[in-house]
Amino acid sequence: ALRAEIRSWTGPAVTADGQRVQLLANVADGKAAAKAAEGQAEGIGLFRTELCFLTAQSEPSVEEQARIYGDVLRAFPGRKVVVRTLDAGSDKPVPFANHENEENPALGVRGIRLGATNDGVLERQLDAVALAAQQQGEREPWVMAPMVATVDEAAEFAAACRARGLKPGIMVEVPAVALLAEQFLAEVEFFSIGTNDLTQYTMAADRMSSHLATLTDPWQPAVLRLIAMTADAGVRLGKPVGVCGEAAADPLLACVLVGLGVTSLSMAASAVPAVGVQLGKVTVAQCQEAARQVLAAPTARAAKELAAGLLE
Ligand code: PEP
Ligand code: MG
Repeated sequence: ALRAEIRSWTGPAVTADGQRVQLLANVADGKAAAKAAEGQAEGIGLFRTELCFLTAQSEPSVEEQARIYGDVLRAFPGRKVVVRTLDAGSDKPVPFANHENEENPALGVRGIRLGATNDGVLERQLDAVALAAQQQGEREPWVMAPMVATVDEAAEFAAACRARGLKPGIMVEVPAVALLAEQFLAEVEFFSIGTNDLTQYTMAADRMSSHLATLTDPWQPAVLRLIAMTADAGVRLGKPVGVCGEAAADPLLACVLVGLGVTSLSMAASAVPAVGVQLGKVTVAQCQEAARQVLAAPTARAAKELAAGLLE
């Protein structure tokens, strides 16, 4: 019965008491964006641009990049599309942006940190996003930086975006950002929580390791606490806070995230209907009560069981 419900779900996502929750797609290129547009996603919450360049030996020109980004913008005209600047490094090396071999690449020069050693790559990417938006007649695309760890990085990135008419945001992947969420959010227009990396860095557990699944679990109460701190800042400053890691695709956890104050969820496009169906079965008050209880849970398993008991 649930399967049939999921198959026939048409969106948009609304809780049982009528609160809209924006469900968005994670994509890697224009083709995936076009596919997502055929489904129920309302827009793109995470365009992983580095995945376009995993084999690029030299940096594509601004015009060539604009063509690639434009293919994604075109799939959702007038809708929210969040372009993430290159998250090169660590598990996603980009030949033209990476440089030395690192002992510990997950803690090395990746994401926004590449700016310091790759002259102008970030600026040219922002130029290309602005050009693509102009060509598509989009007014103010959302652009966010991965792996931000300091308020200075956030402020510099925001200035570079605003100079080009782009709406700046940052990903919350490093615990430091969640701990000082309000200071960071004061500098930008939105947050997007990357639970894959936030969990990896909070639990000090490699997200690629098959031996550490208990640790790389976004239900870990310490991770949920950091998400709560992040979402609270969004509520206080009246700015959107999304989640774009795998956690958003877990229907039960999605309810908890909404209860914590998260305003949008971005996931594989195929996961959208199951999350939409589950959100339709619960009220915001139920989600908030589940959020309150999981924050007090001692273990990931206890958190999951508490949420299931309250929401299923
Ligand atoms: C994340 O870290 O949760 C995220 C969405 O980014 P990526 O998986 O591309 O590192
Ligand atoms: Mg990440």
